[in-house]
Amino acid sequence: MQRTYSFEFFPPKTPEGADKLRAVRAQLAALAPDFFSVTFGAGGSTREGTFNTVMEIHREGLPVAPHISCIGSTRASIVELLQRYRSAGVRRIVALRGDLPSGAGAGRGELAYANELVELIRAETGDWFRIEVAAYPEYHPQARSPAEDLRNFVRKVRAGADSAITQYFYNADAYARFCEEARRLGCEVPIVPGIMPITNFAQLARFSDACGAEIPRWVRLKLASFGDDRESIRAFGLDVVTRLCERLLADGAPGLHFYTMNQAEATVELWRRLGLPR
Ligand code: FAD
Repeated sequence: MQRTYSFEFFPPKTPEGADKLRAVRAQLAALAPDFFSVTFGAGGSTREGTFNTVMEIHREGLPVAPHISCIGSTRASIVELLQRYRSAGVRRIVALRGDLPSGAGAGRGELAYANELVELIRAETGDWFRIEVAAYPEYHPQARSPAEDLRNFVRKVRAGADSAITQYFYNADAYARFCEEARRLGCEVPIVPGIMPITNFAQLARFSDACGAEIPRWVRLKLASFGDDRESIRAFGLDVVTRLCERLLADGAPGLHFYTMNQAEATVELWRRLGLPR
C-alpha cells in the first residue's frame, strides 16, 4: 500500500513567525512528505495569509495543499480563490465548512456544509484538484447523532472527495470503528489519521475541549501531574503518540497527517521513532 504522509501548518501572523516557519519547513522537507497543508482562518480571516504561505511553499517546488473553508463566504469569492490556486498550478485542496469566529457579525455565507463546497469545487474545476475532506472518528461536536455524522461524512465523499484526514484522536479503536462503518456505507476513500503531537498540555486541553477530541483520562491525569516540567510532558507525549501511530500503521492506516503547530521537533522525533521512510 502506498501511504500518504503530510504536515500541516498555520499561516504565520508576523515576519518573525514567517522566518521561523521557513526554518521548520526546511527541516520537515528533508523527510519528503507527500504534501504540506496550510490552514484557513475561521470565516476566511487568513485568506491572504494562507494564500501567501501556500505560494511560498509552492515556489520552493514543494507539494502543498491550501485549506479552504466555505462558511461566511460567497460562492463568487470561493471560485475566485480556486481560480488563483489553479492558475498557480496547485493541485490539491483541503475542503472544509469551517467555523465562524465567536461573536462574528457576518452571515453564514452561501454554502452551509462541506459537501456543498466539494460540489462547487468539482462543478467549477472538474478533476483539477485532488480534494481532501475532514473526518471525525469521535464525531463532530455539533453532530446530532453518530449515525447522522457518519452519513454526512459519506455525503461529502460522494460529492467528489478523493480522501479524508481525521481530527486528531488518541483512541485507535474510535478510528478503526469509524473506518469500518464508513466502508460499510460504501465509502472506499483513504481516511488518513490526523496526529497531534503532545508538547503543551494546557494548549492541548483547550483545543480538545473546543473540537471534541478526547484526551483519555489516564493521559490527561498523567500530563497534569507533570505541572511545568516540560521535559517530562515531552517524553511522555512522545511515548503515547509513537505507540498510537505504531498501532495505526500496523492496523493498516493509509498514512499519517501531522498537526505540526509550526514546530518541527516533535514531528521529526516521531518520524525517527516510527522508522518512517525517506
Ligand atoms: P461538515 O462536513 O460540513 O460538517 C459540519 C457539521 O455539520 C457536522 O456536525 C456534520 O454532521 C453536519 N453536516 C454536514 N453536512 C450536513 C448536511 N448536508 N446537512 C446537515 N448537517 C450536515 N477549520 C478552519 O476554520 N480552518 C482550517 O483550515 C481547518 N482545517 C481542518 C483540517 C482538518 C483535517 C480537520 C479535521 C478540521 C479542520 N478544521 C478547520 C475544522 C473544521 O472546519 C471544523 O471542525 C468545522 O466545524 C467542520 O468542518 P467540516 O468540513 O468537517 O464540516
